[in-house]
Amino acid sequence: MQRSGYKCLKCDDSGIRLSILARNRYAQATLCDCVKIPCPTCKGSGFLLENDEQQREIAITCPDCEERERRIRLYNSARVPKRFVNSRLQREHRDDSNTEIFDLLELIVRNLPDFLHGLDLQRPDDELFKGMVLMGPPGTGKTHLMTGFTYQCTVMLGISCVFQGFSELLSELRQGYSDGKSDVEIIEPHLRADLLIIDDLGKGRNTDWELSILDTLISERYNRNQLIMATTNFTEQEETTLKERSLAGDKADKEHYISDTIRKRVGERIYSRLQEMCYFENLSGPDRRTEDVL
Ligand SMILES: [Zn+2]
Ligand SMILES: [Zn+2]
Repeated sequence: MQRSGYKCLKCDDSGIRLSILARNRYAQATLCDCVKIPCPTCKGSGFLLENDEQQREIAITCPDCEERERRIRLYNSARVPKRFVNSRLQREHRDDSNTEIFDLLELIVRNLPDFLHGLDLQRPDDELFKGMVLMGPPGTGKTHLMTGFTYQCTVMLGISCVFQGFSELLSELRQGYSDGKSDVEIIEPHLRADLLIIDDLGKGRNTDWELSILDTLISERYNRNQLIMATTNFTEQEETTLKERSLAGDKADKEHYISDTIRKRVGERIYSRLQEMCYFENLSGPDRRTEDVL
């Protein structure tokens, strides 16, 4: 779908333009004006004529039109929050504090099509993995990186992807439960996309039921060779993890902070499952929200 000789700045020559609409929570993908209408491949009919084995003329869907429409649907169903409409994995956002993560995300992007066809995903140190947990304090650009990665997967690679906030994910799982669905039925919609990205993993206090259904979801994705990625403000060490004011505290307790690790937040079972399948990476560095990168 790349055209030569001229570059469309609105869509980076993908033919797919992103925008935001006041009434939508998520960034919206549509066909870019630079896409020639009618389509030069099918002259706008949406179909091409081909000969089958018996040399009979048959109509097939135009691959150019079809693939572009499919990628637009993929981006829109990924549900990228609209304030991340401009997130891309761009080299100019690479710096000393995120180089390793950039390398890893680029490695995943390069190898994802093969992984989805059954090949192993291999880290630079040769360990196999099926996902990544990106840890670090708020404002270090984790969500920006992961929404950029979502763009790369859907628009550039045509891979299905769901980007979901942790609280929103749990509330959808709870909804399934109150609709009287079985565990398998509850997690089924979250198994459809090749890639599930959970933003803000470990946020809030969660019930045993929520953690157990989440464990079922994560292990089922693992068994099906489907990727999981997550961002979290909690890290593996108490010294670096997010410190939160104790909920139990009254005024006298105002200065009392708790510093749960990611392990405490999601529980032993989920933590060890993620350990088994994911590459854990720390993102440090300055608060990027003050630098207008987001
Ligand atoms: Zn364009
Ligand atoms: Zn066409």
